[in-house]
Amino acid sequence: MNIGFIGLGIMGQPMVKRLLGAGYSLAVYDKVEGRGQALVAEGARAAASPQEAACDSDVVITMVPDTADVEEALFGRQGAAQGLRPGKILIDMSTISPVATVELARRLGEQSCEMLDAPVSGGQPGAVAGTLSIMVGGEKRTFEKCLPIFKALGTTVEYTGTHGNGQKTKLVNQVVGALTLVAVAEGLRLAGAAKLDPETTLRVVSGGVASSWMLTRLGPKMLQGDFSPGFRIRLQHKDLRLAKEWTAELGMPAPGTELAYSLFTRALERGLGEQGNQGLYNLWEKELAR
Ligand code: NAD
Repeated sequence: MNIGFIGLGIMGQPMVKRLLGAGYSLAVYDKVEGRGQALVAEGARAAASPQEAACDSDVVITMVPDTADVEEALFGRQGAAQGLRPGKILIDMSTISPVATVELARRLGEQSCEMLDAPVSGGQPGAVAGTLSIMVGGEKRTFEKCLPIFKALGTTVEYTGTHGNGQKTKLVNQVVGALTLVAVAEGLRLAGAAKLDPETTLRVVSGGVASSWMLTRLGPKMLQGDFSPGFRIRLQHKDLRLAKEWTAELGMPAPGTELAYSLFTRALERGLGEQGNQGLYNLWEKELAR
């Protein structure tokens, strides 16, 4: 099976490697020139446009930052939609608006192409190890056709229902994850303010009911001052914006989402956008220094 892959960033690169390792043939494209070079050395073919990545592909995967980027990759100049022939499938694995997803699926349907929204959780380590959690929306028979692809990328793969439901499930994930991260940053700052030994605190809290992926993976990075990006603050902020829009549309009170959104907005305003989301920890320092 031929796959076109668009978006070769922190997540896209290791996902392409997993798919090459599983025996798929890949044409890869990123709007930043040269991003596909390492992948070409591993057997992928470089495409000059999304259209070219799509034209010989049975399935095209997009893994780009936001809603407008997926729209551009599909329907912009030399977009993938121009290369997709009837019966072919587009899988969007980015985290974007559920409402826009339904519209994209409708537009692709007009040219007899199918679409799945299949955002992921598990971060860069999950992409490298092929242990992502993948939440899929769209037609069930399309999901079943694509299951071997998902199995090459993740260990938890769930069909969540109609178009957009994958994105909605991902936003639930993002609300839980972001609020947990706020708690981890504040808890570790509290340990520091109280002059507790940070390593001991982290170890013992990680062994109890307050443990989480955020605490055990990102807590040590906060303490070590490693703010290199796995999942950028800019993208975390984008996901909370999407969650906020969605809760407003549902008319659901979401004070936790509002709180996390306001803290990540402050982190962006203070120039932390390109740090990994563990960089939220720096906000306390920046706020105190004001
Ligand atoms: P990234 O910024 O590292 O990579 C995105 C890539 O897409 C970049 O190389 C960029 O040049 C490219 N791009 C943007 N617009 C494009 C276009 N129109 N055509 C072609 N290429 C384009 O981002 P990432 O961290 O890899 O995240 C990608 C998506 O996955 C986002 O929606 C993010 O929210 C989601 N996600 C990220 C993580 C993570 O830990 N990084 C985890 C789960 C989900």
